[in-house]
Order: sequence, then structure tokens, then C-alpha cells
Amino acid sequence: QPVTKSEPLAKIPSSKRVNISEEYQKRSSAKPKLNLVVIGHVDAGKSTLMGHFLYDLGQVNERTMRKFERDSQKIGKGSFAYAWVLDETGEERDRGITMDIATNHFETEHKSFTLLDAPGHRDFIPNMISGTAQADAAILVVDASTNAFEAGFDAGGQTKEHAVLARSLGVQQLIIAINKLDMALWSQSRFDEIQTKLKSYLVHVGFKKSNLVFVPVSGLTGENLIKRSTLPELEWYKGGSLMQHIDGFAPPVRLLEKPLRMRVTDFFKGGIGSSGGVSVAGNIESGSMQVGEQVMIVPGNELGYVKTMQVNEEPANWAAAGDSVLMTLVNLDIMNLSNGCLVCTASKPVPVTSTFEAQIVVFDIRIPITPGYPVVLHHGSLDEPAFIAKLIEVLDKSTGEVIKRNPRCLSKGMTAKVQIKLSQRPIPLETFKDNKQLGRVMLRKDGETVAAGVVNEILTYGS
Ligand code: GDP
Repeated sequence: QPVTKSEPLAKIPSSKRVNISEEYQKRSSAKPKLNLVVIGHVDAGKSTLMGHFLYDLGQVNERTMRKFERDSQKIGKGSFAYAWVLDETGEERDRGITMDIATNHFETEHKSFTLLDAPGHRDFIPNMISGTAQADAAILVVDASTNAFEAGFDAGGQTKEHAVLARSLGVQQLIIAINKLDMALWSQSRFDEIQTKLKSYLVHVGFKKSNLVFVPVSGLTGENLIKRSTLPELEWYKGGSLMQHIDGFAPPVRLLEKPLRMRVTDFFKGGIGSSGGVSVAGNIESGSMQVGEQVMIVPGNELGYVKTMQVNEEPANWAAAGDSVLMTLVNLDIMNLSNGCLVCTASKPVPVTSTFEAQIVVFDIRIPITPGYPVVLHHGSLDEPAFIAKLIEVLDKSTGEVIKRNPRCLSKGMTAKVQIKLSQRPIPLETFKDNKQLGRVMLRKDGETVAAGVVNEILTYGS
């Protein structure tokens, strides 16, 4: 593991140094910030629901909304107007699907949210993985209309896969929006039927019962989104509105005291406000940093200084875990930045590895995993070719005891320890014990998620 001489705060005069834990306390006691992701089967109504929600919350101006309504009437799809609140590019509108992740900020009475709108289309699950990786809580949208819930829930549907992915990526709190209940005439028995099926599945994949909330809604009519519905047909429902439940999400525990790990999502030449240097955008997974501090880019171990920064598009002099940041770095070469690199505390950079041991859970696969099994390893926004080099042992799901050493293959539903090797290049990775945010991996093959897991041990450092 590389150890580098560094001077993290040396260039900042003591009068200008920020006591970040104090500032962070002040900021979060005002209004905790959460990252929220919306998941569910394609056409479940995610975009319509969240668009309508944001509109009713007063996030969308009247003129924009009227324009969306006119445009959608023109193409004969009036109901798309709300969905367009989230789909910002023309291509998405033409295809009527949400392709990438559009980010939106909104506030409720007690919380502040960044909304990551995850797409429902099958091909876009890798995008969903990079979006959900930063999520603290999720809304799972299901379509309650006749046969639609079943189509999304059973084999081939994305309801289950999204739920498992969210859980594997560390999301613990989930609101299940039982949507389009207008189509089922607000039937309580339909609501109960879906709730029963989903609850047992969600508990089975590791959600706590007490962290699951079910809300009957209609993204189209707006029932139960902001205010509790007063519809006579919904009299049987005694719970809160979607917004009340969103406001009630528990504030996330941030890894503030860990070394800085910021995932770089974008970078370009020139600093903020056409100054010199390099602009770097990304999300802080753990730790904190301040203007004037020295940081290290991994891989490559290039050092640089933070000259200026913005948090959520506002100028700031410090940033911490959970923040999305744009900053100007100086005294470094842009050639050392790459897709998926991390900005780290200079004295404690993240290890770079090409072989590690992981504990994985195998998803619904048809062909068992054998040694040499090729996968695409997803880690944050990175996806890299890799293979399962060794099957070490099969574990009991609930007790964690070893059931079988050196198994010949792994099949659906098993929990196991395996050795994974990157095929082309090493990547920055940490053990789950050291950093919950960086210690998770997702394995996919031929466009399907085959397993998810946590990193137990880094076996080789560097290449
Ligand atoms: P997404 O793929 O999950 O983002 O789904 P969309 O938001 O694009 O919605 C898919 C379709 O369902 C569109 O035609 C919507 O108008 C329709 N829809 C969405 N929500 C509701 C609802 O609550 N009730 C009814 N009746 N239709 C809805």
C-alpha cells in the first residue's frame, strides 16, 4: 500500500481552517440531506409520479408545466407532461423513457433531498447501479392495475431485481408506492394483495419489516402524493401521504471521520469561473475536505490542491460525505484523471487492486458459477471486465457458518466467499469493514445481474 508524504492542511493558515465536524453538526441539525432513488419496472409510472410530486410541491414553474402540457397534447400523449419534469433531453421524450439519471433537489418540512431518478428499462440497470450506489433511501413504484403488478414482479420483471439491487447497494429504507390504484378503483383488496406479496419478498431479500412503508397513490391524479387523500374510495387507508413518509425517512449516517473518498463523475480543463486548473465534479462517499487542502487522485497518486469549490451549485469552503461537489484543483496534470478515479486524503489514499476476496449472494441465474466465470464488475460508476477466479466456500445465509469448502460451483440463492480478479486493469477498492461505501461490488453477465457482494480482503495491491 503506497504511503506518501503529504501536507494536507499545511497551506491553510490556521485562522482560515474550518472545523468541519462542528460545521457539519450545525448544517445537519438544520435539515439533514438525503439522496433518494426511484426504482421499479418500466412503465410503473415512476416519472409521472415524481414529476407530479415535484409539481405539487411547487418545484416546477407554471409556465414550464403549461409548455409540457401543450407539447404532450401535440404528440397525443397528454399524460407525459408530468414525466417530462424529470426527463430533460429530447431523446428521452421521443422514446418516452427515462434514460439517464436526472438529478433534482427538493425539500420537505424536515429534510432536504437529492432525487436520483433511476430508469426502469432493462438496458439501463448499469445506470441505475451507479445512481443507487449513492442512495440513502428508495421509493419502489409498482403498477397496481390488472396483471401489471404481476408482469413486473414475476420472472423477467424488474421489480424484484431493482429491490435486490437497492438492498445490495446498501439502501435500507424503502417506501413502496402502490401506483395507478385509480385503475383498480382504489380497491383495498388489490392494495392488500400486492402489499402481502411484496412484503414477504422484500423481507426475504434483507429489508427490515419496520423499514418498509406501503402507500396507495396515483401519479396521474395526484392522490396521496402531498396531502392525505380525502377520496371517499380511499377511506380505508389510514396511513400518511407519500410526502409525509418521505419526510419521515431517518437521516443517514455519514462516514465523516473516515478518509476522504470522492468519486469523480466528470472533469475538464479550466477551473470554475474560467480560472486556471482543472474542474472536477463528483460525490463524496466518506470523509471531508476544505479549500486549500492537498488531495490525491487514485489511481496514479497525483497530488493537487483544492482552490475553490461548490456544493449543490453554491460556493462553499468545505464539503463532506453525502455532498455533490464541483471544485477547481490546481498543481496537477489533467492527464492523471480518469473515468471512475477517486479524490482521496493525501496521506490515506484508497488501495488499488486487481485481486480481492468477496462475500457474494448469487441471484436468479440459470447457469451455475464455476471457476473462471467471466463477469462485468460494477463499482460505483466503474464497470470493468473481471472473472471469478476461485470458489472458496459456501456459507449458511443466516448463521454465516461454512457449509462447504472449495465448492465446484455456485447456484442461485447461495451465499459464498470467492476470489475475484480484474481482467484488464486494477481499480480503487476498499474492504467493507474499512468503508461501507467503497466496499460493495455488483457482478453482471450478458446484461443481467448475477451477484452482489461486499469486499472482505484486498489480496494484491497495485497492478
Ligand atoms: P416509468 O417508465 O416508470 O417512468 O413510467 P411513466 O411515468 O412513463 O408512466 C408510464 C405510463 O403509465 C404513462 O402512460 C403514464 O401516463 C401512465 N401512468 C403513470 N402513472 C399513472 C397513474 O397513477 N394512473 C394511471 N391511470 N396511469 C398512470
